[in-house]
Amino acid sequence: MMARPVRTCVGCRQRFAIESLVRITIDTRGQLVVGGSSDGRGVWLCAGTQECALRAERSGALGRGFRATVAPERVRALIEMLSDKRERSNCSGRPGTVVS
Ligand SMILES: [Zn+2]
Repeated sequence: MMARPVRTCVGCRQRFAIESLVRITIDTRGQLVVGGSSDGRGVWLCAGTQECALRAERSGALGRGFRATVAPERVRALIEMLSDKRERSNCSGRPGTVVS
């Protein structure tokens, strides 16, 4: 059996394999980056839902995870981004992202 990497979602506080999660990091300008590979400060949230981001915002877990105060409008933008992702994954046949 292979040990799969597991992280805790800061929204629901449950542990999941990292494929089910999305990493949010904060850059030097205080901007939130979704899926960033940076190994700086960051948090993990369940992918495909806004619920955990909202919970993490309310509980203050985002600020603790980033060890910084995150401007509310940036948290809003993050939550918007997470909802975009879900909509896109629900319409997989839709053109828009061309890779080649
Ligand atoms: Zn979660």
